[in-house]
Amino acid sequence: MSVMRSVLLAASQNKWLRENAVNYPFVRRSVSRFMPGESLDAALTAADKLAQKQIASVFTNLGENVTDRGEAQQVTEHYLEVLRRIHGAGLRTEVSVKLTQLGLDLSKEFCFENLEKIIVREKKEAIVWVDMEASGYVDATLEIYERALRKYPNAGICLQAYLYRTKKDLEKLLPLRPSIRLVKGAYKEPPQIAYPKKQDVDENYFSLAQAMMAAQATGQCVRAAFGTHDVKLIRRMADHAIQQGFPKQEFEVQMLYGIQREEQERLAREGYRSGVLVAYGTYWYPWFVRRLAERPANLWFMARNLFAS
Ligand SMILES: Cc1cc2nc3c(=O)[nH]c(=O)nc-3n(C[C@H](O)[C@H](O)[C@H](O)COP(=O)(O)OP(=O)(O)OC[C@H]3O[C@@H](n4cnc5c(N)ncnc54)[C@H](O)[C@@H]3O)c2cc1C
Repeated sequence: MSVMRSVLLAASQNKWLRENAVNYPFVRRSVSRFMPGESLDAALTAADKLAQKQIASVFTNLGENVTDRGEAQQVTEHYLEVLRRIHGAGLRTEVSVKLTQLGLDLSKEFCFENLEKIIVREKKEAIVWVDMEASGYVDATLEIYERALRKYPNAGICLQAYLYRTKKDLEKLLPLRPSIRLVKGAYKEPPQIAYPKKQDVDENYFSLAQAMMAAQATGQCVRAAFGTHDVKLIRRMADHAIQQGFPKQEFEVQMLYGIQREEQERLAREGYRSGVLVAYGTYWYPWFVRRLAERPANLWFMARNLFAS
């Protein structure tokens, strides 16, 4: 892991920075590259524009590690309102939730109840995605996800290719007919549990993607979505999908709002399933700094915003 990435990932967890950095106008200007705005209305407007380009969207209301029951309930209520607005607007938008925002740190049972309320409100043909957080939460997240999936076939989970364990987690999930979004992984993890070299993460990603596509072909994996901006890897996976006889519409790539827009549009134009995760909300600091860590060159972009102020 590069030194800069480590420093930024440590900064993403710093309380002082979280409380203070968000007030600087140049930081707020920089975050606007990755978020259409803090409000749900801003996210809905962005989803509408994406839909016009045949790009689907997934909403996530930023926040994590909620330690107050009332707050976790408010987040749950918020997602119910989000689904009401999405359905009302006729948008093909799904939601992706973080279990620590639904109260996982308080109680697994309480968190499951909150997740269940959201899944029950979603249409059966749309997936409710569960994000994967730092490694200390993987067991609990999978436990809650499996419980949800046994009851609701439209629950989806994110798996991280940087973890050594993911191959086994995938094998264990497949008999339950999951929907999976595969990502590389965004947190600071030690080499005992995660591949430290990017090249190894990329190779593991490709190998997991092949396993997911094989499972998708037999109906074992209900939806396989590849959450990445890595254009080389996307082409490699698309070639594999075509070799395996997949119709283009069944090869799905999801990216983050504002990153690789050209590629998002190219995939949609060429008939692949292209989606964008749209994040919004006021609690954006740790999420934003993880985006900087993924591409430290983004710091130059932030510096330009500083000098432009
Ligand atoms: C839809 C979606 C959902 C996600 N959900 C989760 C989750 O639940 N849990 C989790 O741990 N992680 C999640 N992530 C983040 C993921 O783990 C990676 O940290 C992130 O996607 C960067 O990795 P990459 O696959 O794009 O590849 P990389 O090899 O990091 O990047 C490939 C190329 O993409 C571009 N790029 C990548 N990131 C950025 C950026 N921030 N700014 C500008 N350009 C960039 C650069 O050109 C870079 O060279 C999600 C990502 C996506 C797209």
